[in-house]
Amino acid sequence: MLIKLTGGIVYDPAQRLDGAIRDLFIQDGVIVQDPGADIRIDQVYDVTGKVVMAGAIDIHSHIAGGNVNTARVLLPEQHRNHMARRLNQPFSTAKWSTTDTGYRYARMGYTTVVEPAMLPVNALDVHLQMADIPILDTGALAILGNDDLLLRLMRDKASQAQINDYVGWTLHATRALGLKVINAGGANAFKSNVRQFDLDDIVPDYGVSSRQILQTLQRATYELGVPHPVHVHCNNLGVPGNVETVLATMEAAQGLPMHLAHVQFYAYGKEGTRGFSSAAAQLMEGLRRYPNISMDVGQVLFGQTVTISGDVIAQYSRHQDASPNKWVMWDAECEGSGGVVPYRYRETSFVNGLQWAIGLEMFLLAEDPGRVFFTTDHPNGAPFTCYPQLFRLLMDYEYRLACLDKLHPDVVAMTLLKDLKKEFSFYEIALMTRAAAAALLGLNDRGHLAPGAVAAIAVYTPNDDKEVMFDRAALVFKNGRLVVRDGDIVERLSGQSQTICPDFDSSIRRVVQQHFDRFYSLSLNNFRVSDVDFAKPDQQRFMIHACRH
Ligand SMILES: [Zn+2]
Repeated sequence: MLIKLTGGIVYDPAQRLDGAIRDLFIQDGVIVQDPGADIRIDQVYDVTGKVVMAGAIDIHSHIAGGNVNTARVLLPEQHRNHMARRLNQPFSTAKWSTTDTGYRYARMGYTTVVEPAMLPVNALDVHLQMADIPILDTGALAILGNDDLLLRLMRDKASQAQINDYVGWTLHATRALGLKVINAGGANAFKSNVRQFDLDDIVPDYGVSSRQILQTLQRATYELGVPHPVHVHCNNLGVPGNVETVLATMEAAQGLPMHLAHVQFYAYGKEGTRGFSSAAAQLMEGLRRYPNISMDVGQVLFGQTVTISGDVIAQYSRHQDASPNKWVMWDAECEGSGGVVPYRYRETSFVNGLQWAIGLEMFLLAEDPGRVFFTTDHPNGAPFTCYPQLFRLLMDYEYRLACLDKLHPDVVAMTLLKDLKKEFSFYEIALMTRAAAAALLGLNDRGHLAPGAVAAIAVYTPNDDKEVMFDRAALVFKNGRLVVRDGDIVERLSGQSQTICPDFDSSIRRVVQQHFDRFYSLSLNNFRVSDVDFAKPDQQRFMIHACRH
């Protein structure tokens, strides 16, 4: 089956196409060269005058796993609300089904989404939930850094090589795409009643610092050849003055690749009468100094949401702000902890208004949009369904000012936003949400429209209101099949999970086995994720991408 998209205005940074009129050809789910005039085309879509990009990629969105399910159970009333308004308004919280997740992402032109926080002990649950999300390809980052086995190995002065093997084993057993570290050592220290944990604080009983844990795991990720750099949730999330922490973390990376997640929550100074100010400019200056660092923003947008995180220290510290007033903190086996705290961001709140402004400042101050990624840390800053609004905020200065005017007057006085007149171009949007995102994750087969790429394509009808434009794509193709037409889902395809398989010395299995037998309620055989766990044996569930060697 040969398909042609004719006459589209193509934005494809990987091929440096900035609004070029190009035809695209699809065969067997893959983009191919122009086959020439003699070849019969089976299907033609006239997309003249429409904007054409690769399918978008979300590098950090909590769409599956224990925290997500806990949020679903915690907030049944939000679910009822949401069901009543189904597909008419952005839904408010994490209380949505896997079907909604797939459909709502797809209709915005997204075709790949990465779940950034898979606790290894929850890996099978994460993968089963992701397998139930229609249309999207997914991937998950495995969490280490608060687990008892790693900290024991470090306390016992294990070699970096042995730790690399443990990390490699974990990535393999959990079918991960990369490694996530959340407040390294902090969740473990929390169990000893530690309520504040900085980069050079020591985990009680283990005698290792947060910095040592982070650097050890960063090196392991690098030496194993994992394409995606270690994905870091820093210490001191949400604490005024924490820009110092994130700058110290950039330095601690020692020139090796590192990705810093949802940095808006770390761009906080403590100036002003309230002791809370924007440090976005200082943070972005840091990004200029460290070319080995990439980051995603974690933009805050106003409305009801629910915060979910493995950072139990941060979650516990905000539980009194829970709205509605109920919350969950949990701990799983010997691996980590977390919390679920519902929250409403209010335009009338000084702090929330400044958070909103800080995120936008970071986007607008970024010299290279290829290193600053588009996220709301769904659902922590806002549900992903608010993305069209965020596109409009980035692309429309007047709209930004109108929104700013509605905020607390002290926010207006404390932000640079009035002076930041930049408006993102389609090319920059395509870079941030397609080309650079694919490169950051090591997914070379997507994020671009060159021959050989999977045919994941989003077609939009231009509109001065960018929120309208990006809310409902005109057409979306996934693996060469039309899945969205005029914002409606027309075929429910299944996606695949994107993984990597780094080499490691398999003798580490003995160490892990002994640890499991001694401390876990779960047996090691029930822990590993394998193909037979998935219901559709005819379809390959896991797609393996190459490591860097
Ligand atoms: Zn997150």
